[in-house]
Amino acid sequence: MKKLVLLAAFLSTPLFAQTAPATPSDPAADVSQDRLRADIDTLVGFGTRHTLSEQDNPERGIGAAVDWGLSEFNKISAECNGCLTVVAPERVEEGRRLPRPTRIRNAVAIQRGYERPNEVVIVQGHIDSRVTDPLDWESDAPGANDDGSGTVLVLEAARALSQRRYPVTIVYALLSGEEQGLYGGRLMADYAEEQGWQVKAVLNNDVVGNSCGSDGYCDADHVRVFSEGPRADLTGDIRAAQRREGGENDSPSRNLSRYLDNLAEGSEGGLDVRQIWRVDRMGRGGDQIPFMEKGYPAVRITVAVEDYEHQHQDLRTEDGTVYGDTADEMDFGYLAKVTQFNIRALDALARSPVPPASTAEAAVQTYTDIAWEEVPGAIGYTIWQRRTDEPYWRPEPVIENVVATNARLEGIRGDDWIFGVSATGDSGVRSPVSSAVPAGQFGPIPSEEDDTR
Ligand SMILES: [Zn+2]
Repeated sequence: MKKLVLLAAFLSTPLFAQTAPATPSDPAADVSQDRLRADIDTLVGFGTRHTLSEQDNPERGIGAAVDWGLSEFNKISAECNGCLTVVAPERVEEGRRLPRPTRIRNAVAIQRGYERPNEVVIVQGHIDSRVTDPLDWESDAPGANDDGSGTVLVLEAARALSQRRYPVTIVYALLSGEEQGLYGGRLMADYAEEQGWQVKAVLNNDVVGNSCGSDGYCDADHVRVFSEGPRADLTGDIRAAQRREGGENDSPSRNLSRYLDNLAEGSEGGLDVRQIWRVDRMGRGGDQIPFMEKGYPAVRITVAVEDYEHQHQDLRTEDGTVYGDTADEMDFGYLAKVTQFNIRALDALARSPVPPASTAEAAVQTYTDIAWEEVPGAIGYTIWQRRTDEPYWRPEPVIENVVATNARLEGIRGDDWIFGVSATGDSGVRSPVSSAVPAGQFGPIPSEEDDTR
């Protein structure tokens, strides 16, 4: 047991928070494989959802698909007394894979929090699809798995979570233009910034519905979570500070990944998380990236094994091999599990406070002082540690549920440790850990520090 002295500033309040109330029933209990399958079939039924395809044909093309997403959100909202605000942010873009001015339109539903509506967690997938030639907007592009799977996951999450009320806001987003260059993701990240949201987590689901690869290798037990190491919005000053003090493995995205891993371990019969400590797969990208670039904590969630013969492929049979992203290549039991994983994560993130930004001071002393900011909705704070060469937070906290906003760890030489702080909400749910390193905070690096970027 470590000796510790608390610099408690709140003598009138109890030093330790009360124990957590009983866990409510599983919010993911009603996930339906049949509904996921039916929604995939509807999406595939639009023929192509290529971003350059028709905008005004009610039966075929991206316009019809986005309209359908909006109408599903409206249906879900009707089942919860209008608890969702449905919006369709859009703008016109041109670029390397958009040879003519093209309307980019997202389908978005906002479930406002009753206590801290400005705190936002986002779950998203991309609704657009493609075949072999990224500019081929005419051929059938079923996009069942890429990313029909992420799209139907988002809808199913909205159905489940809209039946509950949360202190913070949950945003469900179906994004366009991903295959043409992350246009819908950028539009969504800009939208979040324009709304002044405090984005505490983005779960980007892209290809989440198969369990076997083209070589026959299968893994239906894991889901991969990709996170960035050094954060995308690092400034020169912060990079220099992290070089001296550490923090290259402690971005909010990385800590969100660790959090999701822990959550998954706690749910019986669910998937295990394989944390992948890189931004995305080799040479590839996804709609989490525009959020990272703004300094928002974001991860990519995707299958354990990719199936390259059934993504970004023209529908065809060649030398006996069938190509194309069709629903019959998917594993709906697996997709249901990834959907449940997302719903449980969103439920926890929406019931917990923002992870508190924290600092550790230990220069030339035999103790370490940890300080953190007070965050709204917190009933207590917990300090975590790991050796600098350890990947994960140690399971036993250093101190649990402190009400103060600082603590002195007597006899702990800070040089040998990374520390972090999580906040506990009044439902007893803990936030992710925010590391006490330069720019460990769950929010953008302030622009006044942006002198050398
Ligand atoms: Zn994709």
